[in-house]
Amino acid sequence: MIDVCIVGAGPCGISCALYAKKRGLSVALIECGRHYSRRKCLVDYGGECCKCTPCNVASGFGGCVHYGDSAKLSYYPSGKELYNKISKDYYRILEEACLFWNVNINEFVDNHISTEGEPFEIKAFPVRVINSEEIKKVIEEKWAEINNAGIEYYNCEMTDFYEHENEIDVCCNDKTIIRCRYIVLAMGRHGINWIQKNASVKNFEYEMPVSTVGFRFEMPRDYMIPLGRLHPDFKFRMEYKGYKYKSFCYCGGEHGGRLKFVNYGDYVLLDGHILTETDTKSKYANFALLRQMIMNGEERGKVKVISDALISNYICKFRGNPIFQSYNDFKNGLTSVDYSTISAQYVKRGAVQELFDPMILDYCYVAEKAFGVIAQYADCSIDDIKRHTNVIGLELEGMWMRIKTDDSFRIKNRQIYIGGDCGGESQGIMQATIEGIRIARCLE
Ligand SMILES: Cc1cc2nc3c(=O)[nH]c(=O)nc-3n(C[C@H](O)[C@H](O)[C@H](O)COP(=O)(O)OP(=O)(O)OC[C@H]3O[C@@H](n4cnc5c(N)ncnc54)[C@H](O)[C@@H]3O)c2cc1C
Repeated sequence: MIDVCIVGAGPCGISCALYAKKRGLSVALIECGRHYSRRKCLVDYGGECCKCTPCNVASGFGGCVHYGDSAKLSYYPSGKELYNKISKDYYRILEEACLFWNVNINEFVDNHISTEGEPFEIKAFPVRVINSEEIKKVIEEKWAEINNAGIEYYNCEMTDFYEHENEIDVCCNDKTIIRCRYIVLAMGRHGINWIQKNASVKNFEYEMPVSTVGFRFEMPRDYMIPLGRLHPDFKFRMEYKGYKYKSFCYCGGEHGGRLKFVNYGDYVLLDGHILTETDTKSKYANFALLRQMIMNGEERGKVKVISDALISNYICKFRGNPIFQSYNDFKNGLTSVDYSTISAQYVKRGAVQELFDPMILDYCYVAEKAFGVIAQYADCSIDDIKRHTNVIGLELEGMWMRIKTDDSFRIKNRQIYIGGDCGGESQGIMQATIEGIRIARCLE
C-alpha cells in the first residue's frame, strides 16, 4: 500500500509529491495529460484548436503551467483566502514555493498605480514574471526530481476512488487501481467536471462559487505596454449597478500577449498569457474584464442556473467556439461593418454581444473606465483604444465549488485532501504550490 496517491501533476500535485517524498512517504502521482514535451497547442502556431482531449493547455505534466509559455507569479494580498487559512505558516511556505520556482522573493514588484478620486480600485500585490525559458527549466527539473525520487508516476485518468476503513482504492481509466492511505485531489481546471459531478456523491461539504463571466480585449500592444511596465498584472475592480467587475490577467508587457484557449469538452473558453523576451513577440496585447454572475447579496445557487444557460447559449449559437467582434460593434449591437483583425486566426467573427445582452452598455461603461487608465499611461485617447480593440469571448473564471477543508486542506475525519484550483480556495500558480507543500507537511 502507498502512503499517498496524488491526482494531478500541476503545481499543487508536483510540489505535494516532492515534499511528501522528502518526508519519507511513499508516493504515487497520477496525471492524465501528456508528457510536457508533447503538449503543443496548435493555436500557438497559427492553427485551429483541434480540441485535444485532455486539452494540452490545461493538462499534462506541469498542469496549466504550459511548457513554453511565460506566467506571472504572485503572492499575498493575491490569494487572500489562502493567506487567511494558513496565516501563521504562509510566509514560511511561500519561501519554499519560491525555491520550487527558482525565484527570489526580492524580485517581485509591487503596484503603486494611484487611483485617487476614481470610482475604481487598483489591487496592489507583488508579481514576478517568469519567462518561458525559466518555466521550461523548472518543469524539466521537476520531471527529473519526480523520476529520481522514486515517485510512482501513472499516466492515466483517475475515474473514481472508494474509501474503506483505513485505506482508499483509487481507480483509473486504464484499470490501474492504487491502494493508498491518503488521496490528494489536485486536479485543477481539467478536474472541474469531475468535482462538480462528484462533490455531492462523495459527501463533500461545499459552497457554490461566485463565478465571473466576461470577455477579453485585444488591442495593439503599444497601448498596454506603459501600464504593463509599471506593474505586470494591472488589476482593476469596480462595483457598478449592484455587480462587481474586475479586470483579469493583464497580458501587456514589453512583448505583448498571447490569447490562449482551453477545451472543456463541449466548449472552449478563453485565457491569455504574457509574452517575454524568450517568447515570440506579438503585435497585440490583451486583458479580460469579468463581471460576477450574481448581484451583491443574491443567492449563490443562482450562479449554476446562469452559467448553465450562458454555456448552452454559447454552444447553441457558436458551437462553443470563441468569437470576436470590434469593440464599437460590440457596444453598438452591430454585426455588419467589421473589418478588424485578430492575432489568433482561428477565432471567427461573431456577434459576441449576443452572449451578454441586455447588460452590454453597463459592461462597456466599466470597460471604458479600464481603457481610461490604459489611455492615461499610453498618452492616447479612450477613443483611440475603442477604435483599435476587439472583444473576444467567452471567458469564465472561478467556476470551482469551494470544498470545505480544515487548515491542512483535509476533509474532516477523512483521508482526503483537496488542493490547488480544484479546491476552490484560491487560484494561481504560487497559491497552488503553497497548498501542495502545506498538504505534504500535514500528512501524518
Ligand atoms: C492559459 C493560462 C494562463 C495562466 N496564467 C497564469 C499566470 O500567469 N499566473 C498564475 O498564477 N496563474 C495562471 N494560470 C492559472 C494557473 O496555471 C493555475 O491556477 C495553476 O496551474 C493551478 O494549479 P493546480 O495544480 O491546482 O492545477 P493544474 O495546473 O490545473 O493541474 C491539474 C492537473 O491535474 C490533471 N488532472 C485533472 N483531473 C485528473 C484526473 N481525473 N486524473 C489524472 N489527472 C488529472 C490535469 O491534467 C492537470 O495536469 C493560468 C492558467 C491558464 C490556463
